[in-house]
Amino acid sequence: MAETVTGARTAALVERAERLFPGGVSSPVRAFRSVGRPPLVLERGEGSYVWDADGRRYLDYIGAWGPAILGHAQPAVLDAVVAATQNGFALGATNPLEIELGEAIQRAMPSMERLRFTSSGTEAVMSALRVARAATGRDLVVKFAGAYHGHSDGLLVEAGSGLATQAIAGSAGVPDAVAATAIVLPFNDQRAVTAAFAAHAGDIAAVIVEPVVANAGVISPAAGYLEHLRAVTSADGALLVFDEVITGFRLGSGGAQARFGVTPDLTTLGKIIGGGMPIGAYGGRADLMDLVAPSGPVYQAGTLSGHPLSMAAGIATLHELTEERYVTLEESAALLAAGVTDAAKAARREVAMARVGSLLTVFFRSSPPVDAAEALASDRDAYARFFGAMLDQGILLPPSQFEAWFLSMAHGPAEIQATIDAARTAFAS
Ligand code: PMP
Repeated sequence: MAETVTGARTAALVERAERLFPGGVSSPVRAFRSVGRPPLVLERGEGSYVWDADGRRYLDYIGAWGPAILGHAQPAVLDAVVAATQNGFALGATNPLEIELGEAIQRAMPSMERLRFTSSGTEAVMSALRVARAATGRDLVVKFAGAYHGHSDGLLVEAGSGLATQAIAGSAGVPDAVAATAIVLPFNDQRAVTAAFAAHAGDIAAVIVEPVVANAGVISPAAGYLEHLRAVTSADGALLVFDEVITGFRLGSGGAQARFGVTPDLTTLGKIIGGGMPIGAYGGRADLMDLVAPSGPVYQAGTLSGHPLSMAAGIATLHELTEERYVTLEESAALLAAGVTDAAKAARREVAMARVGSLLTVFFRSSPPVDAAEALASDRDAYARFFGAMLDQGILLPPSQFEAWFLSMAHGPAEIQATIDAARTAFAS
């Protein structure tokens, strides 16, 4: 199998990008560092495929990191955005499209009694936690190791030694005092949560959780775990925040909260609700959201919040997301997972496929991880080789062991089969 030689135009663009941007990118994972390959420069997407700057086509599992659930340049979404451009762009006042998208989200996710749009998931999470702290008058926030909630200072933290201890900064430039407002616990460990609440009773504003972890690779919540978070937070007067930036409208229209039947106090959204345009949203109980300015004392704002083009793309996307299409998507994901698992077995590779809905990760270890420590203990070099072998066959997986494959509704049976066939070749090599 010939290793992909970077095309001439791509190579030239990468060289220019590296002079401009740190690491040559506008977001770190795009640099392909953890798979030891030169980065791609992608120029076009259509359906389940993307094309690089040299016109090479790849079957895409990055899915824009989540938003592209319908595939790229889906005609109805494209038409809606083009139509919206005719009215100008941001107009600096409430737009009818914001109300339409807000109502569509609320219909699908009734816990969003009140919501607000932001321009990114990072802002949505940052703002939701500001509300939680204001509502409770408490400062501490519990998060889980391996979860990602955007790059606001207070959430760029890592677990300190021992459970229920305060976190240490996970990024240079984060003040210790800010990192110390977070408590980082292992996911799926009920006792760790109980212990943290015992140690910090009355001091924890909120538990924030990716109800299905998608940022350490896919990690499914154990039976009863989300219910435990709900019970422990309620008992202590703390809030439960579901970060559904990935899972919202991915695991069905009601997100993880509908799928697992656990209702959070606050929810954050992003990605799919903007159909690939910049967006975030946070919302939840009306009494909490009414703390936000100008109703209440929690300040939060945005020049481009509720941007008409994002709203138009989101409305059109949600309109396409029918229950039948979610069923088909889930069936495709199950076929893909089974096929890749069989291919690994045939080649006697130790591989565990983690899957929740259309989020998948191939872990190079014996069983799907239950927490970030187990995810980290997978064979990342093997993943890097697998990534390369797939890329050489025109299949673009996420360039990291710790990112989910995002299946789209545009991946048909032929694409699923092509992926399984490529995996068989990759595992054999
Ligand atoms: N929360 C989760 C669960 C995410 O996966 C992400 C981004 N991948 C964010 C928040 C931050 O969203 P954004 O990149 O739009 O700021």
